[in-house]
Amino acid sequence: MPTTNTRSSARTRRNRSADGSTAKSSNGTSSKASVKKSPKSENGSEQGNSQLEKLFTDSLKDIYWAEKALTKALPKMQKKATTDELKAAIEEHLTQTEEQVSRLEQVFELCGKKAQAKKCDAMEGLIKEGESIVEETEDGSMTRDAGIIMAAQKVEHYEIATYGSLVQFAKTLGMEDAAELLEQTLEEEKETDQKLTEIAEGSVNQSAQQEDEEEEDDKEKK
Ligand code: FE
Ligand code: FE
Ligand code: FE
Repeated sequence: MPTTNTRSSARTRRNRSADGSTAKSSNGTSSKASVKKSPKSENGSEQGNSQLEKLFTDSLKDIYWAEKALTKALPKMQKKATTDELKAAIEEHLTQTEEQVSRLEQVFELCGKKAQAKKCDAMEGLIKEGESIVEETEDGSMTRDAGIIMAAQKVEHYEIATYGSLVQFAKTLGMEDAAELLEQTLEEEKETDQKLTEIAEGSVNQSAQQEDEEEEDDKEKK
C-alpha cells in the first residue's frame, strides 16, 4: 500500500470523529454529497448560515486570537529558556506560528469572511500558566526548561485538538482547500509537540534532576 501512515491515520480519524453527524445519518453517502454540493464557500461568495458553518467560523476566530497571542508570548518564553536547544525550537515554532496566522487569514478569505479575532479564554489561561512556571523556576536552571516544555506542550495539545476538529469541519462543509491549509498547520503543531518531547527526554529532564541532586549535596556540605 503506497499510502503514508499520516494519511491513513487522518482518514481513520475522519471516519469516527468530527464529521460523525453526517456519517451517522441513515443514508451517509447521499447526505454527505448533498452537503458538498451546496453552492457556497471557496469562491469568495457569502457563506450560508448552517449551525456547523457558524461553529466553524467562530472556532476560526478563536484560534486566530490564540495564534496571534502566541506570536507575542513565544518570544518572551524564548528569552527565559535556559538551553540553546529549547531556544532554537521556540524560535522555529515562532516562525511557523506567524505563517499559521496568515494561513488562517487565507481560510477566512475562502469562507468569504473578513479575518476576525475573538478572545480564546483557554489560550489566555495556558499562556498565563506558562508565565507562572517561569516565575516559579530559577533563571538559568534546567528545571526552568522542563517547565517551559510542559507549558508549551499544553499549548500544542490545545492547538492539535482545535485544528483536528477544524480540518474535519472544513471537509464536512465541502471546503477542501480550507481543509488542506488547516491540515498543514495541524501537522506543524504535531511535529512541534514531538520535538518538545524529544528535547525533554533527550537531556532536559535528566539534567533538571541532577541539578536537584547537586543542590542537595551542597546543602549537606554546609
Ligand atoms: Fe499554532
Ligand atoms: Fe479557544
Ligand atoms: Fe503551536
